Amino acid sequence: MEMIGIIGAGQMGAGIAQVSAQAGYRVLLSDISIAAATKGRDGIARALDRLVAKEKLSFEDAQAAVALIEPVGDVAAMADAALVIEAATEREDIKRRIFADVGAVLGDDAILATNTSSIPITRLAQAAPDPARFMGVHFFNPVPVMRPIELIRGLATADATVARVEAYAQALGKTVVHANDAPGFIVNRVLLPFINEACFALGEGVATIADIDAAVSLGLNHPMGPLTLADFIGLDTCLNICRVLHDGTGDPKFRPAPLLVKYVEAGWLGRKTGRGFYDYSAETPVPTR
Ligand code: NAD
Repeated sequence: MEMIGIIGAGQMGAGIAQVSAQAGYRVLLSDISIAAATKGRDGIARALDRLVAKEKLSFEDAQAAVALIEPVGDVAAMADAALVIEAATEREDIKRRIFADVGAVLGDDAILATNTSSIPITRLAQAAPDPARFMGVHFFNPVPVMRPIELIRGLATADATVARVEAYAQALGKTVVHANDAPGFIVNRVLLPFINEACFALGEGVATIADIDAAVSLGLNHPMGPLTLADFIGLDTCLNICRVLHDGTGDPKFRPAPLLVKYVEAGWLGRKTGRGFYDYSAETPVPTR
C-alpha cells in the first residue's frame, strides 16, 4: 500500500492520519517537533481505544491502525511518500515554508495536497514543487465521522493528480465532491452566509438567540441552529471565512454581520473560550441575549 505523509498533527491532521491508517495506508505524521507528532499519534490511539470500548472497532484493527502511523521529526522523512497532505495551521506563510521544505525531498511522481479551508489553491500552488501535482483536499471536522471530501483543483492541477487523490479519498470510504478553486469552495460558500444571516437577524432584533436556533433547526430539520453551530466552529473562524468570501468575490452580499465582528472583538469566540452566543460555564449552555 502507498505511503502517505501528513504534515500537522492537530485536530485535522490527526483525523486524516487516523482514517488513512484505518484504510490500510502507512502514514508518516509530522508536526513542529517529534514530540508534537507523537502527541498526535497518542491522541489517535486514544480515539481508537474509545471506538473499541464502544464495540465499533475490533481491538486487532485498532492495534493495526496505530502500528501504521509513524511520528516523524522532519518532513525529510517523507521522501518516499506517494501523497503528502498538509494540514498545518491556517497561515499562508507557514504553508509556503512547509511546501518548500517537503518539495525539496518529494519524488518526481508524488502529489502534494493541502487541507486549507480558505487560502486559494492556485495561489498556494506557486509555492509547491509542481503546480500540476498540487491540489486541495478538504476534509471536514471530525474527520473520522464526516462523510464528504471536497477535492479542489487549482488552475494548473493535472487530471491525473485529481484521479489519484480521488482514488485515495474513495479508499477511505468518503464521498467525493469536486469543486473549482473559488473562495469557500462549496460547503463554506453556502454555510457562512447562512450563519452570517442569523447574526444579522440577531443584531437587528428579529428574535432571541434561543428562538433563532429553535426556529431554524426545527424549521429546516437541521441537527442544531446556526448560532449553536457558529459557537462550535468558533466565531473567529466564521468571521475569517466571511472575510475570505467578501474579499475573494468583492460581493457585498458576503459582508460580515457587525454583531459577529463585535463578538470576535470581545473575545467571545464560542465554545473554545467558554462564551459566544451561549455561555458554557453552566452544565447546559445558556443563551446570552
Ligand atoms: P490545529 O491547530 O488543530 O492543528 C494545526 C497543527 O499544525 C498544530 O498541531 C501545529 O503545531 C501544526 N503546525 C504549525 N506549524 C507547523 C509546521 N511548520 N510544520 C508542521 N506542523 C505545523 O488546526 P486544524 O483545525 O487541524 O487545522 C489544520 C488545517 O485544516 C488548516 O488549514 C485549517 O484551515 C484546515 N481545516 C480545519 C477544519 C476545522 O474544522 N478545524 C476543517 C477543514 C479544514
